[in-house]
Amino acid sequence: MLNRIGVTASIVYLAALGAASVFVAGAAWESVTSYRTPYAYEAVFPAGRPLTERLVLFVLDGLRVDRAAELEHLQRLAARGSPGTLRVGLPSLSNPARATMVTGAWPEVSGVTNNARFDPPPVQSIFSLAKRRGLSVSVFGSIFWKRAFGDILGGGYGRFEKELHGGRSAQELSAWQQDICAQALAFLAAKPSNLTVVGLTAGDEAGHDFGGDSDGYRVVTAAVDDCLGQIVSRFDAATTTFAAVSDHGHIDRRGRGGHGGVEPEVIDAPLVLAGAGIRAGGRADGLLVDLAPTVSALLGLPMPANNQGRVLAEALDAPPERLQAIRRREREQRECLAARLPDREAGLRAERHDRGPVSTLAAVWFLAVLAAALAGAAPRRLAAAGALCFGVYYALFLALGLDYSLSAVVREEYLNGFFLKNILAAAAGYGIGVIQLARTAASEKNLYLRLAAAVTSLFGLRVVWTHAQSGLAMRGFMPDLEAGFKAYLDLLAIFGVALAALLAFFVFRRIGRARAA
Ligand SMILES: [Zn+2]
Repeated sequence: MLNRIGVTASIVYLAALGAASVFVAGAAWESVTSYRTPYAYEAVFPAGRPLTERLVLFVLDGLRVDRAAELEHLQRLAARGSPGTLRVGLPSLSNPARATMVTGAWPEVSGVTNNARFDPPPVQSIFSLAKRRGLSVSVFGSIFWKRAFGDILGGGYGRFEKELHGGRSAQELSAWQQDICAQALAFLAAKPSNLTVVGLTAGDEAGHDFGGDSDGYRVVTAAVDDCLGQIVSRFDAATTTFAAVSDHGHIDRRGRGGHGGVEPEVIDAPLVLAGAGIRAGGRADGLLVDLAPTVSALLGLPMPANNQGRVLAEALDAPPERLQAIRRREREQRECLAARLPDREAGLRAERHDRGPVSTLAAVWFLAVLAAALAGAAPRRLAAAGALCFGVYYALFLALGLDYSLSAVVREEYLNGFFLKNILAAAAGYGIGVIQLARTAASEKNLYLRLAAAVTSLFGLRVVWTHAQSGLAMRGFMPDLEAGFKAYLDLLAIFGVALAALLAFFVFRRIGRARAA
């Protein structure tokens, strides 16, 4: 039985632990959003002879591979070109993916690690290289392109007149996409360019609201495809190269979509290359970083200095000596980058080694608290209440649509609500455990504090495991986001339990006083 000093110490400990868990979770997220890439460098690599005069890149936001295979105009392009699949990076969000598409650099190298906070990528892009070669560049798409590349694009940027966010029917979204398409066509006619990017985003809205396997998604992506067909028909097919790619797919859970995580339907993006310089009947499978060097090869641009991908040479229609020249240019840039980019595996190993002492200390701490909590009276009842607590937590976790994946959040606007549900689920689980204790062990006072100490220690041990394995914060490399998101939810669960324990303390004190009176 805990004495008065023990109760006070438990309360102080739980309050401090709850505050610390929120602080650590915030610091982990902050390390991703405030990240500045240390890998940018300037080097001008040799240009080559172009394989095409004009390239139009369609960024089909949120288009899944399975849906892409059903789209009429996209498949018509694929039939005369080289289709394939590109694996996107993590987090599987639009802005990191868009930056990767045009720089050939993964988020940890481009510096665009999230959708909300980032600086213009300080690394070379197909835009900056095209401008340097005297080619004209224009982009019609979401505000991201202006925020990230506005300085380079200048007047070559056109924005939708309005951007949509949530709560629209499939018909409204389709009508909106048609309206945007008319704007896009007018913009393209006014700004004929050697390199053009067109962002079509209605499919992503539909994916979020209806799910990636829904009728609504099919209706809206058909409108996106229709727009693609209209734009393609305005160009001379003999002299223009078309590239169509998506930035990520969508999950479909109970009629809701989402992305950001590692689900196969999210991280595989369809790609179609067709037209001038592209082999008919070829394949183009690879990684999202392969797009920028492939566009560079097609337009005869230097390889972007921070490019981490490869030219999809198997999709190119060029004589062997031209392909050899492309490979030479590719090799030169790759060797130069390798001298500046630390070995990822070795770097991660070194970071893991550095974290060792803190991980060990934290593990010992939580194990000691757990042992102390179970060492007192009624350990069996305590263990039963603990099991009930976790059982209720996970039942609510599932019922509330929570999951250990960023994709399950549905929309970024719902992120805070998602986290709040997790806090409440943990607090409710603990609350049920306390009620169970009160029913079965009424004579044992303060068991509820030992329950809180035990449950938070178990969550804490899981967080410590992730800290030891892959780290919670971003330093030079993107941490394992799947494990990191789970640790984030566990940290918030600790906060929820600690908060509920403090509440229980005040409730029991009032009841005690009322009884005494
Ligand atoms: Zn989205």
